[in-house]
Amino acid sequence: MILDRPGELRRHDVPEPAAGPGEVVIEVSACGVCRTDLQIVSGDLPAKREALVPGHQVVGRRTDTGERVGVAWLHWADGTCEYCQEGRENLCERAEFTGWTVNGGYADRLVAPADFIFPIPDRFGDLDAAPLLCAGIIGYRSLRLSGVQPGQRLGLFGFGSSAHLAIQVAVHWGCEVYVFSRSGAELELAHELGARWTGGYADAPPAPLHAAVTFAPAGSVVVQALAAVAPGGTVAINAIHLDGMPAFSYDLLWRERVLRSVANFTRSDAMEFLELASAIPIRPQIETFPLDQAPEALEALAAGRVHGSAVLIVGAPERGA
Ligand SMILES: [Zn+2]
Ligand SMILES: [Zn+2]
Repeated sequence: MILDRPGELRRHDVPEPAAGPGEVVIEVSACGVCRTDLQIVSGDLPAKREALVPGHQVVGRRTDTGERVGVAWLHWADGTCEYCQEGRENLCERAEFTGWTVNGGYADRLVAPADFIFPIPDRFGDLDAAPLLCAGIIGYRSLRLSGVQPGQRLGLFGFGSSAHLAIQVAVHWGCEVYVFSRSGAELELAHELGARWTGGYADAPPAPLHAAVTFAPAGSVVVQALAAVAPGGTVAINAIHLDGMPAFSYDLLWRERVLRSVANFTRSDAMEFLELASAIPIRPQIETFPLDQAPEALEALAAGRVHGSAVLIVGAPERGA
């Protein structure tokens, strides 16, 4: 499925991709649908190449060894810059990103560097594993950067693909989770997954939060999250692209509240998270679409009709152990 121009994602037959030095070809069986894909396809986040294949939550098999692997958002980092040398390859300025700067997984096959692919724990089937690869990993990084500690009150603002996985980690850590959304169906799923309390974005939680993560791509929600955290608390923004940041009173930030973005992930985040997801075990809630219905999947996501994570079925996905 190729993005011909903003808003036009179409099926094309193209030559098989070939692996360059250090790369492997992967036969795709499943690809998760992320809100970032929606932003790239709509043009809110401009594609970085012509005729782009989107998709960065890819599960498939190496054509050389048959090993089942996952490909995620970080396609490559140079390993030599200051950020990479300090273990912060998520900030590498030369980084390439799957389904944005290079072709992704809305396709039968894709190419990825052998050093930037991850074994998938046996517990997960191909379809269940797909949303772990961005929604899961970046949600996990967001939780860590929020600084939330076991037993503390954590707010999750927006409850889509990433938040429904993050809550399972937070509950496993013993946090009290407070979920904010304007969708009744999302709040219902939040309760099923162990939320202590649910409400709308503007509702005050029963007690100030120690930390919060925002998932909704709206600056207004970030401000609402700041208003709900206690002094010294952090709001971590899990989004590549926000509609904009409204002006807000400095009182909301005063008393050492921290507002920070979460950018990409490192390979150690990915490996740590996949191991933890298998140990908990996290149970992704998925809705599947055939590959050529990617536009319909994105439309469902835009309309808030996906509960949990949307996943494209590409080849013949296998079940987990
Ligand atoms: Zn993503
Ligand atoms: Zn670098």
